[in-house]
Amino acid sequence: MDQRTHLTPAGESGARLRELIEAARTVVPFTGAGISTECGIPDFRSPGGIWTKYQPIQFEDFLASQEMRDESWRRRLAMDAQFSTAQPGRGHLALAGLHRAGKVPAVITQNIDNLHQASGIPDAAVVELHGNTTYATCLDCARRYELGWVRERFAASARSPDCEKCGGYIKTATISFGQAMPEGPMRRAEQLTLSCDLFLAIGSSLVVWPAAGFPLMAKRNGARLVILNRDATEFDDIADLVIHEDIGSVLAPFVAH
Ligand SMILES: [Zn+2]
Repeated sequence: MDQRTHLTPAGESGARLRELIEAARTVVPFTGAGISTECGIPDFRSPGGIWTKYQPIQFEDFLASQEMRDESWRRRLAMDAQFSTAQPGRGHLALAGLHRAGKVPAVITQNIDNLHQASGIPDAAVVELHGNTTYATCLDCARRYELGWVRERFAASARSPDCEKCGGYIKTATISFGQAMPEGPMRRAEQLTLSCDLFLAIGSSLVVWPAAGFPLMAKRNGARLVILNRDATEFDDIADLVIHEDIGSVLAPFVAH
């Protein structure tokens, strides 16, 4: 029987999503910017997003010049009001509920906003493919620095500070353009993808590598695939359920699970 359901009306698709989640043994969500837009976090790559206003700073340029490090921190600190005040949305809370219920072992995310952790999912159960922008680390010794500390130093000297322990460069704990993907999280994301019988792609356009690989990997491994995204994706054709609706509204009924 072909279970595929495309663009069913609201309500119907929500009911189908519930059936798929209830029938699944292990659900692995993969989240992108779309789950955080209702929390006021800008979708960096969308039209009007920040990368259409500023050229992203490549990792090699960050390493190469103090001016680029200063510019990188100036931009990050200017956006801090958005990141530091954002609260988890309905999508985050729904996934946290499914985690507590034992359905979701961990969440794979492209987001750097820490909102899955803020929704109550333990750090160890959030696999961050692009790192985390809510704190910083030394690129050489990995010592952690809080953004408040960086802000104070930056305000005092108008220069991005270096590590107090080893003199290395301090950068938000994110994966920059031109920086290698983190091996541990990539490996874990792959294991999770292969362990699930239901893969939920939520709020990701599934274009940027490595995001594109996971839904396909899950599907080839025999899992069901649900795509919940505002816009169409390249993988809609192979999904068992595609929902192009507001993410928060679709997932709200799962908040209390
Ligand atoms: Zn250091």
